[in-house]
Amino acid sequence: MSSSAKPIVYIISAPSGSGKSTLVNELLTKVSDLEFSISYTTRAPRGSEKNGRQYYFVSRPEFEKMIRDGEFLEHAEFDSNYYGTARRFLHEAQQNGRDLLLDIDVQGAAQIQQKLPDATGVFILPPDRKTLEERLRKRSEDSEEVILRRLVRASREIENYDRYNYILVNDQLEDSIRALRAIVRGERLVRAGRPLSVEETKTLAFADRFRLANVRDRLNSILDSFRPPGDSGGG
Ligand code: 5GP
Repeated sequence: MSSSAKPIVYIISAPSGSGKSTLVNELLTKVSDLEFSISYTTRAPRGSEKNGRQYYFVSRPEFEKMIRDGEFLEHAEFDSNYYGTARRFLHEAQQNGRDLLLDIDVQGAAQIQQKLPDATGVFILPPDRKTLEERLRKRSEDSEEVILRRLVRASREIENYDRYNYILVNDQLEDSIRALRAIVRGERLVRAGRPLSVEETKTLAFADRFRLANVRDRLNSILDSFRPPGDSGGG
């Protein structure tokens, strides 16, 4: 994008354990001019997480002061902790002529979509509930109680999939990265509004495969795996 253009805001949401962080990190190394919005959170750092890299780790009073000062574009409470996107990242992206990538939950995504209706939402799904549970356990960074809470929460979050423009089922990492790159490039191409080369047209067609309207049919079995037996999802 040019420095005067509005940045494209990409929102990526997924139940925790869907492999989202890996995908986001890979995407950032492979796509130019895309900035990651480092969120603020009151949760404690996990494992190798560093302040200012994955998150800015702050206390509850500090976070609440930022809310009062209007510093957040959106914020939400997730698993008894605050998470929020600082407004300044959007301004900085615009100034630097870069697009912005937000890794936020479904509540935050809904707030952004209200404020920035042109934002592009991508929802990442695990192949099924069992795979998600295995991934959460393998990560072994969370207690059993947290894992169970996150599974219940995942079932609820997943029901919001149809608020997103694109849906990606993260089965094979390489395939998912390819899809994400195509989605980012595709949105840039559409918004550039110029004639496309043959290669660009192919990229766009590939990205289109992941549009909500084109994946609905394939989602049913995944959604069913997260629903209690006998629940058809309320129509
Ligand atoms: P985790 O604790 O696993 O890093 O993140 C928990 C959830 O918070 C994830 O769904 C993540 O996308 C979401 N999250 C991270 N940063 C933000 C943020 O700034 N705002 C909102 N609303 N959610 C966020």
